[in-house]
Amino acid sequence: MSKGRRAKPMFSLSPVEFRDSPIAGRGVFARRSFKPGDVIVPYAPRQRRVDARDPEAVAAAETKLTLLSERQFVIIPDTSVPGGWLCNHSCSPNAAIFSDREGRVQCTRAIGPGDEVTIFYGWVSHNEPRRDPCRCGAARCRGFINFDLSDEDARHAHVVDGRVTMDEILAKRLAEYGTFLHSIGQEQVQEAIANTLVRMKLRKSGSVVCAF
Ligand SMILES: [Zn+2]
Repeated sequence: MSKGRRAKPMFSLSPVEFRDSPIAGRGVFARRSFKPGDVIVPYAPRQRRVDARDPEAVAAAETKLTLLSERQFVIIPDTSVPGGWLCNHSCSPNAAIFSDREGRVQCTRAIGPGDEVTIFYGWVSHNEPRRDPCRCGAARCRGFINFDLSDEDARHAHVVDGRVTMDEILAKRLAEYGTFLHSIGQEQVQEAIANTLVRMKLRKSGSVVCAF
């Protein structure tokens, strides 16, 4: 070895591996233990970060892999490089995505070697209640990843000055989902649902499907 060159380690064990998952497609699997708060894997080791108003960001949203970062940027993963974007959904997740800066997947519940790293995600769908079946296998699996808002639901909501008000029927349905979200620490999803209701009522866009 020439002078001044540092010896490389014999091998570096990545803390995760990417392989076929019993849930769906490829997944992310732990190769060591993680405790709540640990960063597990970058969301997208190779990525582009563009302004949220950029047409490229809007087009890339179709992949459902983009992340809104710091309310003004969109992270577009280069899917030729595996990363946290491969994490599967679970109704009882052990990790969560943080979208500031580069974006990362962080542990929220103890993870052991060999465990699949799962996050909670989904979409608000419109009149397609059975669109995204869930195969997470959790005891409390909801059966579907998406939360559906129908035209019927929209009839139970009213928008006044950009805020949603709703009658008891819809409030009860959202409260049930809210209880579930609270149990897994995903209360922020309620805001996404409220925003979708506003868009449905205002009919600002042809599509009301949004990622959360
Ligand atoms: Zn599930």
